Amino acid sequence: MVIKQGRETVMESLRVLYKIGPGPSSSHTIGPMRAAMQFLEHYPMATTYQVELWGSLAATGKGHLTDYIIKKVFSDAGKEINIVFKAEFVHAFHPNGLLFTAYLDGKEIGREQIFSIGGGNLAHEGETQLTETSTYNYENFKEIYNDAKEKNLELWQVAVDTEGEEILEFLKNDVWGVMKRAVESGLSTEDILPGSLQLHRRARKFFAQSQTKDGEAKELAELFAYALAVSEENAAGSFIITAPTCGAAGLMPGLFYFLQKKFNFSDEQMAKALAVGGMFGIVIKKNASVSGAEAGCQAEIGSAASMAAAGTAYLLGATIEEQEYAAEIAMEHHLGLTCDPVDGLVQIPCIERNAVGSRRAYDAAHYAMLSEDGHRVSFDTVVATMWETGLNLRPEYRETSQGGLAKAFLKGS
Ligand code: SF4
Repeated sequence: MVIKQGRETVMESLRVLYKIGPGPSSSHTIGPMRAAMQFLEHYPMATTYQVELWGSLAATGKGHLTDYIIKKVFSDAGKEINIVFKAEFVHAFHPNGLLFTAYLDGKEIGREQIFSIGGGNLAHEGETQLTETSTYNYENFKEIYNDAKEKNLELWQVAVDTEGEEILEFLKNDVWGVMKRAVESGLSTEDILPGSLQLHRRARKFFAQSQTKDGEAKELAELFAYALAVSEENAAGSFIITAPTCGAAGLMPGLFYFLQKKFNFSDEQMAKALAVGGMFGIVIKKNASVSGAEAGCQAEIGSAASMAAAGTAYLLGATIEEQEYAAEIAMEHHLGLTCDPVDGLVQIPCIERNAVGSRRAYDAAHYAMLSEDGHRVSFDTVVATMWETGLNLRPEYRETSQGGLAKAFLKGS
């Protein structure tokens, strides 16, 4: 069992990787939402509640709607909660900490520390397992690859082998269905996104422009429009799929929507491509992180690009070796990417980054399929490198909005 920052890790189900939930951030909205529901379930009898938000959850919580979603969970249950922001306190276990306390008639009756560790997943300090359980019995991609080769399986068949045929139905209906709806709803909306930046949505305009162009220029405008559409839906707090996070939710659906339209792939084929991409996503979550607060944007956009590149390579007829290479390239060329959302909103640079990343993932798939002599850096090596790089990033570059573009933008404005 691999130990990461004092916590053991699991290789989770694709059902856990691809979660449906409200944007704009899997670690700052979906995770805290699930934590609040869990605590409420443990202490339904309490009369009042308090939650302390620590580290990144406090630093960018308002922009990421963390306080809004926690209050909503409690108010939907007819309860009230007091929220205390403690950005200066960063727990050694994980930078996204929540301390819930329940009171009955003014007397404390229980408290829980919960950590939102990325992709909407939760963990408790000192547990031998995450709150999620291990579904796959592999340590890394190499083991998945060896198993696939030994059994003569495609990567999507490895997922079916472990999770049953129903996983394809889940991916087709619950994941691809929601992804497509997010693209279409994002394309049909034209307004200003919530938050201080007063950012105008661009997806609809990009799509309109694509209709005035031909050839590659048209395709590029369409691809960008689709990725922007989902990222803008995410920024508006609409329901999206974590792929693998909310901040990176536009990259994979944008590219896959483009591919389905261009090549007429069936929904069944899209489900298999999601399974292929997912196998790389679960390796990243096990051996590194998909949390921007933990390892920077390379962990979010880099991971999304890896998953999308592998799935694209599969759809285009690549071998498993080429799918791995595509995933490796996509991550390798995002290494070191920092997380520095302006004013704590998942908008600048996040939305544009999804659009540009979708093109990069597409290119990675093509590049891998052109290379006839294989590759030297394995996917597992690049994942380990991403993790080490993430740990070496200063806190300013890990979703605190205290450095990088976030700081420069405020100075310049
Ligand atoms: S900069 Fe990247 S990691 Fe940070 S919030 Fe935006 S998308 Fe997520």
